[in-house]
Amino acid sequence: MILNRQRETSSKDWVNFAAVKRAVSLEAVLRHYQVPGLRRRRDQLQGCCPIHRGTRDDSFRAHLTKNAFQCFACQACGNVLDFVAAMEKCSIREAALRLQQWFALASSPGVPAASVPNRELVRKEEGANAPLRFALTGVEPNHPYLAQRGIDAATAREFGVGLYPGPGLMSGRIVIPIHNQRGQLVAYAGRALDGRPPKYKLPVGFRKARELFNLHRAAVTGSNTVILVEGYFDCMRVHQAGFPWVVALMGLSLSGAQESALLALFDRVVVMLDGDAAGRAASKTIAARLSSWCPVQAVRVPDGSQPDQLSCSAIQRLLAVVK
Ligand SMILES: [Zn+2]
Repeated sequence: MILNRQRETSSKDWVNFAAVKRAVSLEAVLRHYQVPGLRRRRDQLQGCCPIHRGTRDDSFRAHLTKNAFQCFACQACGNVLDFVAAMEKCSIREAALRLQQWFALASSPGVPAASVPNRELVRKEEGANAPLRFALTGVEPNHPYLAQRGIDAATAREFGVGLYPGPGLMSGRIVIPIHNQRGQLVAYAGRALDGRPPKYKLPVGFRKARELFNLHRAAVTGSNTVILVEGYFDCMRVHQAGFPWVVALMGLSLSGAQESALLALFDRVVVMLDGDAAGRAASKTIAARLSSWCPVQAVRVPDGSQPDQLSCSAIQRLLAVVK
């Protein structure tokens, strides 16, 4: 026995169970297995048990803050190591080794647990957009371009958008302030008015995949549902139509960080992308991905149009089913 232990600790397969448990969240493991149909209730995920593959959709509960799970049907319970051991029908030690490998955790015995962070956390820290140390002044919210895009003065003021007449990177463009989840200003997007490329100018180094446009406002509406659109103007227009719980991807793909933010703040997602081929394809992909975690509905925007081109009443009609 003692010999075995010594051999284990000196081998390259040395594994620190406690460090693995601390480093890997149960949520990340459930995502790794793509467990379908889990519903989020506060800090719990609830659904069919992936271990005994039962059909009762309330037997399996994952407590995210405790990082523990329980199945009322097959009585399986425990931490991430127990979960992986049950799924893989392997030992706890083998489960820990697999988690180390899947989540690229350090396996050196000299590494203290605290420096073996969750891979998602590492990404978060590396990719965070620093808050700006300035705000543009003299932005004119009454520019005709905004009216032409269907944005009224009140919405323009609320979002802080308008023409920036001053010098610099954003000179002569319609500027759109982008905030992080905490409401800190992290960038401006500058929309060209004269067709000069790029259509939208963003500061060098700004990572839009780290943010969701309007998330800080949508998060405090108290809505359990969030509407997901592609662009800034779609977002402002849907907001103006009476749906302030709307956020924009600023593109067509949903990053891991964006997905985590949505799932942490809302219980249901309504996907409302553009009515073109790219929008339809992205809508399908995103809805499929999110539906493993929460109820998702896709709204079909009419062919060839996008939400910011629709009238308020048309937006209300499309969203009536989900209100
Ligand atoms: Zn079970």
